[in-house]
Amino acid sequence: MKLSEFVKAEYGKSISECTNEELYYALLTLTKKMASGKQHGNSKKKLYYISAEFLIGKLLSNNLINLGIYDEVKEELAQNGKDICEIEEFENEPSLGNGGLGRLAACFIDSIATLGLNGDGVGLNYHFGLFRQIFENNMQTTVPDPWLTEKSWLTKMDVTYDIKFKGMTVKSRMYDIDVIGYNNTSNKLHLFDVESVDESIVEDGINFNKEDIKKNLTLFLYPDDSDEAGRILRIYQQYFMVSSAAQLILDECVAKGCNLHDLSDYVVIQINDTHPTMVIPELIRLLVERGLEMDEAIEAVTKSCAYTNHTILAEALEKWPIYYLKKAVPQLMPIIEVLDDKVRRKYHNQAVYIIDGEERVHMAHIDIHYSSSVNGVASLHTEILKNNELHHFYEIYPEKFNNKTNGITFRRWLLHCNPQLTELITSLIGDGFKKDATQLEKLLDYKNDEKVLKQILEIKSAKKMELKKALMEKQNVTINENSIFDIQIKRLHEYKRQQLNALYVIHKYLEIKAGKKPSTPITVIFGAKAAPAYIIAQDIIHLILCLQQLINNDPEVSPYLNVVMVENYNVTWAEKLIPACDISEQISLASKEASGTGNMKFMLNGALTLGTEDGANVEIHELVGDDNIYIFGDSSDTVVERYAQGSYHAAKYYNENAAIKEAVDFITGEELKAIGDKDRLERLFNELVSKDWFMTFPDFDEYVKTREQAYADYENREEWVQKMLVNIAKAGYFSSDRTIEEYNRDIWKLED
Ligand SMILES: *Cc1c(COP(=O)(O)O)cnc(C)c1O
Repeated sequence: MKLSEFVKAEYGKSISECTNEELYYALLTLTKKMASGKQHGNSKKKLYYISAEFLIGKLLSNNLINLGIYDEVKEELAQNGKDICEIEEFENEPSLGNGGLGRLAACFIDSIATLGLNGDGVGLNYHFGLFRQIFENNMQTTVPDPWLTEKSWLTKMDVTYDIKFKGMTVKSRMYDIDVIGYNNTSNKLHLFDVESVDESIVEDGINFNKEDIKKNLTLFLYPDDSDEAGRILRIYQQYFMVSSAAQLILDECVAKGCNLHDLSDYVVIQINDTHPTMVIPELIRLLVERGLEMDEAIEAVTKSCAYTNHTILAEALEKWPIYYLKKAVPQLMPIIEVLDDKVRRKYHNQAVYIIDGEERVHMAHIDIHYSSSVNGVASLHTEILKNNELHHFYEIYPEKFNNKTNGITFRRWLLHCNPQLTELITSLIGDGFKKDATQLEKLLDYKNDEKVLKQILEIKSAKKMELKKALMEKQNVTINENSIFDIQIKRLHEYKRQQLNALYVIHKYLEIKAGKKPSTPITVIFGAKAAPAYIIAQDIIHLILCLQQLINNDPEVSPYLNVVMVENYNVTWAEKLIPACDISEQISLASKEASGTGNMKFMLNGALTLGTEDGANVEIHELVGDDNIYIFGDSSDTVVERYAQGSYHAAKYYNENAAIKEAVDFITGEELKAIGDKDRLERLFNELVSKDWFMTFPDFDEYVKTREQAYADYENREEWVQKMLVNIAKAGYFSSDRTIEEYNRDIWKLED
C-alpha cells in the first residue's frame, strides 16, 4: 500500500496536508502492517536470545530499509514537500540498553531475522530505560528518559504469566516488537512488563522507592546498585525476565509437540552475559514441577543453554549473596544448591564452585557448568578467558570454549547512517555487499582510482557538515568542518581510558599555548554516560567539560583545538558521529576491552583506528595491515604480567616523566580550578598519581607519538584516503551476519 493511500484512509487528507507527527504515526502503522505479513524461520529447534538489554535505536528508517521501501517512501514524501529525517525526529530512541552489550543484542536480532533463522529476542520493557544525561555546571546529572508513547513499535500481546516472588505474585505481560530482516522476514523481540508499574513513584532525578517492587519492577534499566535495595531489585528484575522467558519457552515447545524430555531438540537459549543466568535453575525447577527427574532436567537444560561472556573485569562478574536470593526468589536456592553440590562432588577446586566461602552465588559459574557452550567475543578475549580468567574451567571443559568475534549490522551502520557512502559503493561494486559483506573487498580495485578517492573524501566532508549542523541545532556549539574529527564515544569507564585522551588534550593545549601549532586544526569529540554511582567516571566527565569550556574560550588555542562532549550519547548520536569521523579512538588498556563494536562501525565508515592491541582492534589490525591503522601501547601480555606482579607504580611515572607530570598537574592547576569543582579535580588527580589502575601513564608517550603520526599522515590526503578505502573494504568480516552464521553453525544448529 502506498503511503498516500494510507494517509487518505487514516486521516482523510493528502501527505502534504499532514503534519510530520501524523506522517510518523502513519508510517509506523504501515510498517507494522507490512511486518505482520513476513515470514518467520520455522525450524523445529528455536533460538531464544535472552538479554537484559536491547539497545535497538530508532526503528523507522531501519525498518523501511529492511522492507526495501526506504527510497520509495523518501521520494514520495519529498514530492509532497516532506523530509523523512524531520519525520524521524518524532520517534523517541528506545532506551533499553547501556552500551556495547545491548547494542550487540540489537545487531544480532537484526541478523537472525535477516538470515531467516527461527530465533527471537527476550528482554524487559523498562519504562524509563537508562537515564537521560544532562550537563549542568560541567557535570553529569541524570533524569528519567520516558521513551514510551501511546502508539509505538510495541504490540500488547495476550501472553501473561504469573511470576512468584517470596510473599507475592506479579503478572508479567508480553509486548512484541517486530524485528524486520533484510530478506522478506520478520522475527520478534519479546519484552516483558508488569502492569502494576507506577511511573509516579519517581521523585527528583532518578530516585524512587526501591523496595516497592510491584510499582518499580520495570521502571529503570539497572537501578543504581550502590545500595542493597538497588541490588536486590536487580535480582527481582532478572528473575522476572527469565521466569517469563522460561514459561514462554516451555509453552511454545509443548505446543510444537515437545515432550520436555527432548527439550534440547526444540530449544536453544543464548544467555547474553550473566544477567539472564537464573533461567538455568528456573527451567530446571519448572521441568521438575512438570514431572522430570532432577538429573534429567539438569541435563536437558545444560544441553539447551549457551553462555556468552562479555568481560574479564572481575568486578563486573555478578556474585549474589545467598541472602539476597532467599529474600527475593527462595524457590531457586534448593536448585542452585543441587547444582553446586554436583560440582563439589566432581571437582575439588574451590575456584570452580558455584557457592563460595562467603555465601555468594557466582552466576558465571552456573553458566559455565550448566551450558554446553561458553564463548568470548573476540579472539584475544577468548584466549584470555581460556588462559587466565576462566582457566580452571577451560581445563575441565575445553570443548565448551569457543570464540565468536562480534559484529555489527551493516543495515544500520552503513546503509542507514551513511546513504552517500552506500550509494558510492553500490555504483562501484553493485549491491551484493548488502547481503554478503565480504564483497566489500572488491573496493580494493579502486585504490588508485583518483576519481573514486576524491568521492570518498567528498562524502566524508558532507558527513562532517551534517554533524556540524546537528551539533549546532542540538547543543548550540560550532565546530570547524575543516578540522580533523577525532572521536571517542562509548560508555565512560576507566578501562576505556577517556582520561588518557583528556591528558593528550591538555598536552596539546599546552603545546599550542607555547607556540607549537598544528598544521590542521583538531576537533576532539567525546560522548559518554557514566553510571550514577561511579564517582571517578563522573570526575572524568567533569574534567572533559571543564577542558571544553577552557579551550573553546581561549582565543589563542581555539582556532587550532576544540573539545566537544555530546550530551546524552546514544544510538542516534552514534549514527551522526561515526560517518563524520577521521580518527576513531579505541584506547582501552590492552586485555580489558572484550571486543568493542564501536571500532567496527568507525572502520566501516572510513575512519582510521588509533588504538591499543585490545579486543577486536587486534583483528582489525590483522585485516588492514600496519599501514592502515595506528597501534600503540603495552601488549596484553605485559599488562597481565604487570597486574600479576603488582609491579606498577603510577607515582614513579609521574615523577620521572616531565610531560606526564605537566599534563596531570594541569588537572589541579589554576586554570581548571577557576572553572571546575576543586574536590572533583583533586580526587581525579589523586586517583591518577597514586593508583592509575588502568595504567594510562606507561602508554602515554607512545600514545602522544602515535596520535601525532596520525595527524601528520592526515596532511597527505591522497594517501590518507587510500587508508580509508582499505578500512572500508576490509570491514566485511565484522558484519553481524557473519557472526550469527558462526553462532548457528557451531552452537545453535537451527536446521533451516
Ligand atoms: C556501538 C555502541 C556502543 C559500543 O561502543 P564501544 O566503543 O564498543 O564500547 C555503545 N553505545 C552505543 C550507543 C553504540 O552505538
